[in-house]
Amino acid sequence: MEKTIRLFDISSKTVSFDAVVFSCVECEDGYEVVLDRTAFFPEEGGQSADGGRLGDATVWAVSERGGVICHKIDKLLTVGGCVRGEIDAEARFRKMQNHTGEHIVSGLIHKIYGFNNVGFHLGADDMTADFDGELNEDDIRKIEDLANKAVFECHPIRAYYPTPDELKALEYRSKLDLAEGVRIVEIEGVDMCACCAPHVENTGEVGLIKITEFIRYKGGMRIHMRCGYDALDAFRADYAQVKSISMAISAKHDEVGEGVDRLIDEISKQKGTISALKREIRTFKLEKLEYTSGNLVIFEDEGDMLSLRELVNGAKQKCGGICAVFAGNGEGGYKYIISSTSVDLKPLTKEINAAICGRGGGSSEMIQGSCTATREEIESYFSAR
Ligand SMILES: [Zn+2]
Repeated sequence: MEKTIRLFDISSKTVSFDAVVFSCVECEDGYEVVLDRTAFFPEEGGQSADGGRLGDATVWAVSERGGVICHKIDKLLTVGGCVRGEIDAEARFRKMQNHTGEHIVSGLIHKIYGFNNVGFHLGADDMTADFDGELNEDDIRKIEDLANKAVFECHPIRAYYPTPDELKALEYRSKLDLAEGVRIVEIEGVDMCACCAPHVENTGEVGLIKITEFIRYKGGMRIHMRCGYDALDAFRADYAQVKSISMAISAKHDEVGEGVDRLIDEISKQKGTISALKREIRTFKLEKLEYTSGNLVIFEDEGDMLSLRELVNGAKQKCGGICAVFAGNGEGGYKYIISSTSVDLKPLTKEINAAICGRGGGSSEMIQGSCTATREEIESYFSAR
């Protein structure tokens, strides 16, 4: 089949076009249509395909095989007929902003630090670029400053196919083992790279470039970044988050970090006070506890294992049988610690767990675990045995 004319190669701004339907065949999940020309960029080199419409049909996947671009659509088109194509222009422009921003950042990292871009992914909510070397926070800040400077300086961008001789003379990134058919994307004075995707025509169109995160990755580094409208959306979302935190904790917008630190500090102090108070209450309860010759069952609303252990160790002195402490509100079951001064618990572990629908174990002196029996079931078991 004849190769599809790539309208996005001629101009990245073409978002509607007329084309002739070469073929349209039914497939598992709809129809596959090939046109004489298309502005739909296929899924290629880490960038997802354009969406949009062909006549009344929705285009939901675009792929390329040997220069032929295939559109997956949901309605049958007449072969030999003419169809109007409309690509989702806003989504495409956002992709071009992000993709071009990535060229600027990767070009600068290569120029200044010599690292190569070895991976790229542009999804709906995130863009990542991988490098074969690591940068620190100051380096990243410097790259981000220079990338945005390149945006504000409005450098022209052009994409073209050099002749084999011209190509030989060019210094560019993503070098391919091809003598011809290599598409060069040149950002004047900033970067030159082999790439097949559509880009904006001027760095000014990229808008804000923000590197949101950088992490160690496969012996190098992965950066996450957003550009243009996506950067604006991310800024809006973050700003709204900070605003709601600032209102919730009554801190100024630019002081929420200190405000949250202060709160965490306060909470941890309060936790200390609460556990000291709880310990006092338990000591008090234990002192009040009447001695019983049988088993003793205590229910607590909550408690960590350490404080429950303290409680059972104190309470078992007040009974002649088994002392069992349960913690929880019953909804998610209970945590338990069981101990005794007179009864060997080891041989009883299985029986106790069976009776209270529990899981757990321990030693002859103490067993612990969790259970799902109701409070009534637990109490009736220990009062009967
Ligand atoms: Zn590109």
